[in-house]
Amino acid sequence: MGCGLLEKESMQVIPAMISGKTEEHLCQLSMDCLLHKVVLSPFLALKEAAAMQGYDLQVASAFRSFERQLMIWNTKARGERLVLDEFGQPLNLENLCEKDKVFAILRWSALPGCSRHHWGTDMDIWDAAAVPLDYVLQLTPDEYQQGGPFHSLSCWLDEHAEVFGFVRPYAIDRGGVAPEPWHLSYSSAAQAFEAKLDAQCIYKILDNSELIFRDTILANLDEIISRFIFPDA
Ligand SMILES: [Zn+2]
Repeated sequence: MGCGLLEKESMQVIPAMISGKTEEHLCQLSMDCLLHKVVLSPFLALKEAAAMQGYDLQVASAFRSFERQLMIWNTKARGERLVLDEFGQPLNLENLCEKDKVFAILRWSALPGCSRHHWGTDMDIWDAAAVPLDYVLQLTPDEYQQGGPFHSLSCWLDEHAEVFGFVRPYAIDRGGVAPEPWHLSYSSAAQAFEAKLDAQCIYKILDNSELIFRDTILANLDEIISRFIFPDA
C-alpha cells in the first residue's frame, strides 16, 4: 500500500472510515499494524526522537475493524470475556440490569463503530526497551505509573508528543472511559473524524448491527455519547 498521498486527499473522511468498515485510508506500519496514511510519517518521527532517548516505542494495537470491535463487545456481553469493574477487578455481569451491563462494558471497551481505533489515527503504545523480550504486555495503568516499566516513556511523551502532533485523549479519568495512558492519538487527523461522528451517524452505524444489547444502547445513546464518546463536549 502506498503512503505518499497528499495530506488533503488522505483526509477525506467517509462514513465507512469512521466506523472501521474500510481500510482504504490506511497503510502498513508492520505486518499486523495499520495506520492512517497521514499518521505514518509523524509516528516514525516520534519513534525516532524517542529512540534517541533510549526508548523503543512500539505499537501494540492501531487500526481495529468494526467486525473485530463487535466481536470483543459481543464476547464480553455474553460473559465469554472478562468485564472489569472500575478498580480493574473482574465483574459479574449476571446480577446487573441491561443498562448497567452496557455501562460496565463501556468503561473498558469502545462501542463498535465508535472506537477511535477505527480511524487509524490512534494507537496503543509501549516501550520495548524497558522490559525483557518475553514480557507479556498488560496495558494496565500500573505499567505507566511511577514504579512501572513504561513510566519513563509516559513522562517523555508528556513533554514531547505534542511537538509531533500527538495527544493522549484518555489520560485523565472523567468517569467515562477508564484512564488509558497508553492510548496515543494524532490529533489533527483524529479531529477530522471527531467532527463527523455525531448522534445521527452513531445511530445509523448501530441500528443495522448485530450488537448485543443494541436496543438498550440506542435507548440510552445521549447519555452514552456524553459520558463515553465526547466527555469534553
Ligand atoms: Zn487504545
